[in-house]
Amino acid sequence: MSKTRPGGACSVGFQASVACPGTPHASVAVEEARVHEASIVEELIALAERHAPPGSRVLSVQVTVGLLTGVSPDAMRFYFEALRDDTLGPQAELDVRLVPLRGRCSACQRTFVSEEAIWTCPACNEPFLSLENGDELDLTSLVVDDGEPDHDRAEDPQEERRRRPGEPAGA
Ligand SMILES: [Zn+2]
Repeated sequence: MSKTRPGGACSVGFQASVACPGTPHASVAVEEARVHEASIVEELIALAERHAPPGSRVLSVQVTVGLLTGVSPDAMRFYFEALRDDTLGPQAELDVRLVPLRGRCSACQRTFVSEEAIWTCPACNEPFLSLENGDELDLTSLVVDDGEPDHDRAEDPQEERRRRPGEPAGA
């Protein structure tokens, strides 16, 4: 079996790659995959926390996942829901989008787009695929609530403390 793929694009991030989740491919054992997804979700949450503007609440974390990562969107959502209450908050949603696999067969030269991970050419069945993508795992955007009028909480708790009633008014 011979295949080529573009060099390791498995960044978790808005370009900034935080850590490469490794080279997980379709045949990861189920338990390994679960651990793997838990750590990916932890990284995504950490990344979202870092990138969300101060004082804002993350409503949605949008992620694209390549088919060759072997990552299960359901498992990611499961871990996200388990971890969000103590991190981003219960309002946060994880929006996972699987990216179709694009490539070309080196034997028959046909190009293809597949909704599933494949290792042989859909036309001639030869295993000589040159894949354009599949390893991606990117946090593409965050939807945040930045505390507009419907939230009148002070964004900066320090500020609130400085203005505590009973203290001299200062200037
Ligand atoms: Zn072919």
